[in-house]
Amino acid sequence: MSTLEKLSNIVSETAKSLSKKSGEFIEVGKLTLDAQKKQERIQEIYEEMGEYVYSRLKRGSYVTKEEVLTWIQQIHRLEEGIEDSEKMALRIRNIKHCQHCRIQLEKEDNYCPICGKYAG
Ligand SMILES: [Zn+2]
Repeated sequence: MSTLEKLSNIVSETAKSLSKKSGEFIEVGKLTLDAQKKQERIQEIYEEMGEYVYSRLKRGSYVTKEEVLTWIQQIHRLEEGIEDSEKMALRIRNIKHCQHCRIQLEKEDNYCPICGKYAG
């Protein structure tokens, strides 16, 4: 297994474990960071792909889609992971929770039933 494949497996495993925890409270910040890391990885793959394509074309040869397919698939998986993180972040933002003790509240709760702080 190549380093690229290993990395992409780690990324998809992370996405899977994040999905499993969808019922738990996951901080939006963590999801944003996760999406940023994936975006950075996509940039790295672009660079690797670009270098490869350039070196091939420089020697006068052509590049087929098959040659760059692994990279394309990795980028696709990363893009899907970013989309998942963004969807999850949006869902968390829509869930009302106490700013103080972070428990999930009902929409109609104006005060936290645990700490009694105003929940808005
Ligand atoms: Zn509270």
